Order: sequence, then structure tokens, then C-alpha cells
Amino acid sequence: MSVRVAVVGSGPAGFYAASALLTSDLDVEVDLIERLPTPWGLVRLGVAPDHPNIKAVSRAFEKTALQPGFRFFGNVEIGRDVSHEELRRLYDAVVYAVGAQTDRRLGIPGEDLPGSWPATAFVAWYNGHPDFQELEFDLSHERAVVIGNGNVALDVARMLALTPEELAPTDTTDAAIEAIGRSGIREILVVGRRGPVQAAWTPVEVGELGELAGADVVVDPADLELDDESAAELEAAPPTVKRNVEHLRGYASRAPAGKPRTIRLRFFSSPAAILGDGRVEAIELGRNELVGGRAVATEDRETVPCGVVFRSVGYHGVPLAGVPFDERTGTVPNDGGRVEPGLYVAGWIKRGPSGVIGTNKKDATETVQLLLADARAGALPTRRDGSLEELLAARGVDAVMYGGWEAIDRTERAAGEPRGRPRIKLCRWDELLAAARAS
Ligand code: NAP
Repeated sequence: MSVRVAVVGSGPAGFYAASALLTSDLDVEVDLIERLPTPWGLVRLGVAPDHPNIKAVSRAFEKTALQPGFRFFGNVEIGRDVSHEELRRLYDAVVYAVGAQTDRRLGIPGEDLPGSWPATAFVAWYNGHPDFQELEFDLSHERAVVIGNGNVALDVARMLALTPEELAPTDTTDAAIEAIGRSGIREILVVGRRGPVQAAWTPVEVGELGELAGADVVVDPADLELDDESAAELEAAPPTVKRNVEHLRGYASRAPAGKPRTIRLRFFSSPAAILGDGRVEAIELGRNELVGGRAVATEDRETVPCGVVFRSVGYHGVPLAGVPFDERTGTVPNDGGRVEPGLYVAGWIKRGPSGVIGTNKKDATETVQLLLADARAGALPTRRDGSLEELLAARGVDAVMYGGWEAIDRTERAAGEPRGRPRIKLCRWDELLAAARAS
């Protein structure tokens, strides 16, 4: 008899888990359950639209979706349409691969002033996430501040700086292309609390800043004069960190070419407060010193006028009703992906929001190996009771199956083709569901 597994969440971790299950030597059936009508998670709705090569990983996921034993159930939300307990009864095993769905907080005054946004909301908006299309980003001010030194901060800074010509061949939403095109932003200030050696970004992302048509990159050479601690850290660091610093040295020694916008990378600075009367008008930055690898505030403070702030200091997981959760780490406590026999986690809800897409392959494979070991040992609680499709039908839930997603995909590509764009995304729930039903 086959092992029936529900994988919840159709981003990279969910698809890599499905793939490892379906290519195992056991007879496994996988139902991949997703709250949106569309698969691929952050590959569709997080990866920056000007990075089509990264988005192309979805081609591998398409192959998994066509394997015998695989079914996609989009537009089905656990906790709303089906409970965790029901899933446990319906399947031999459940794997949560739901990612980290909210943003980490800064915990400073003014954080919630209008004009202070989590970067995650801006990313979801320009990528066409149907829950974020009503947001209105005021980009009319001269300076935007991006807090954080990770790849998401660089995505946001770059997207704010791209020219209409650079955005045109991407699948950025029309609303975002239009808003960025008429934005008044002249300076994008990216603020890191530690130094250039400690930044979390990766060399390709740092390097491509230097190739933007419409923005100069400015780095203060003083920020690259390393103290003994950072010099030793750089010496021992992996080549990626060395390449990051080489790129930064290049920017520091380059005279600005006079492009319309400037991306200014500023280090050793933490936001102390976001200031303004009813909306963001300035940010107070405190100068830090590095002590034992940590940013320690000095007395030195500066107020920098700005009209919009994007807080890009990492994602945070959200608890699932009925599933254990560690609020501090934002993850489900687990051992190698096993919560208990029959219940597993993969991806960011397992290890926290770190790594690149490929990291999730190893991560999900580790989880699946434990699941398969439990199946072979007869340790999975066998609690079959009906089927998901019967339960959804009884509740009137209109699941979008894989054919429905393929219909959305065709509609979007057909709309993009005459305009030389990879696709024009449907980004409203009603449009997505209507296109899926037309399959
Ligand atoms: P991240 O890589 O964890 O970076 C978070 C940044 O926020 C770090 O610079 C961190 O500094 C800073 N930070 C945290 N708390 C702070 C605070 N209270 N005040 C000031 N700064 C603070 O997170 P992310 O950028 O959201 O990216 C998430 C993951 O997705 C990462 O693994 C990333 O590489 C990946 N990703 C990859 C790509 C790509 O490959 N192109 C694109 C986007 C995202 P400290 O180091 O000092 O803590």
C-alpha cells in the first residue's frame, strides 16, 4: 500500500520534498497543498523580477508536478479550509514547508509610521502577490532608506533604482513599473548595522549594483578601512565575502558617473528611531562600533531626512494551529526535520529564513529521509479517514488543481508575448480563480 503524504506549501522546500518523496524506492503519493492558486512560493513572489535565471528553477518543479502520484491543491488554506488535525487523519505523514511568512521587527520608535514598510510587503507588491496589490507606496520623496545588509535589502534597493527600460522585459507588475518609473527618489540609502565584512549579501548581487543603467553606487572609503578584528575576519572568510569586499572597494574608488539615482551603502549604522508627524520624514541613525563581532552603539547620532523606509532585517515564521512553535526562532522545533513520526517540516519553518533556493534541496531531502525511515520502520501512525477531495467538496472549497495553474500560466504568458515580456501576472484573486476555472 502506498504512503500518502501531504506537503503544505509549494515553494522550493515543498517542491524539493515532493521530488525526494516521489523518486524514493517506496510507493509514495504526494498531495501538495497551497493557499494561493499559484505554485512556486517565493520563486514566483519573492525572487526579484529582474532575476529570471533564478526564477527558472520553477522548470525543475514543473517536472516534479508531472510525476505520477503528484497532485496540486491550490487555493486551500490549512486552518481555514482544513485543520491540522484533519490533515493528520487523512494522511500517513504531513510535511509543513510553509516558509517564514512575516517580517522581523526592529523594535524602535516610529517603526509603524505611514511610509515605514517591511521590505517583504514591497517585494510581494512588485511581484504581484494577490494579497498585497492594494498597498500604495509613496515614492515621491527624494530619499528612500533600506535597513539591512542582506540580499532582500539589495533586491529592494535595485528595484527602486531600475529604469523603465530595465524593468520592461521583466514580469514586474504594471502598477510597480509605473510607480517606479515616476518615482521621485534620487538616493537610496542602504544601512548596515555592522561592517562590509559582516554583510549577509552575496557577490553577484553586490556586483550587479555596479551595472545599473540609472544609478551610481557610492561607498565611503572610510567604511572600508578595517579594524584589526574585521581584517582578521576577512583574511579567514570564504571567497564570497572577499569578493563582496572587492566589489565595495571598486565602488569606493570610482567617481560617480552622474546617473539620475544613487545607491549609497552605509555601514556601522543602526536606526534608533523613525521620525515624522503622521508619516515618515526622517530617520535617526546611530553610529556603531564592532566589538567581538557585534554592533555596539556609540553616542554618535545623525538625523537623515527621508520619505520612505524599507525594513529588510529578515523574515520570521508564523505558528500553525495545533503544531508546536518556538516564538524566538520562528520555527517548529524539530530534529533534522522530524517533529514526531508522521509530522515533519522543511525549509524556513524548519531552520529559519536563511540560505538560497538550492539550500532547500538538501534540507528537504534530509527531512524526507527521516519520513521514509519512519515509513519503513512502520512508525507512521496510519490514520486514513476519507480523502482531501471529499472533504473539500463537502465544504464547497474550490481547489485549483495543477491543470488550473497551467491555465493561469498560459493566460499570463499569452498576455506577455505581444509586449515582449515573459508574462503579465494576474494579481487579483478573482482574476486568478477565473483563469484557473477556464482550464
Ligand atoms: P538576511 O540575509 O538574514 O539579512 C538580514 C540583514 O538584516 C542582515 O544584514 C542583518 O544584520 C540585518 N539585521 C537584522 N536585525 C537587524 C536590526 N535589528 N537592525 C539592523 N539590521 C538588522 O535576510 P534577507 O535579506 O531577508 O534574506 C533572507 C534569505 O533569503 C537569505 O538567506 C538571503 O541570502 C536569501 N535571498 C537570496 C537572494 C539571492 O540569492 N539573490 C535574494 C533574496 C534573498 P546582522 O548580520 O548584523 O544580523
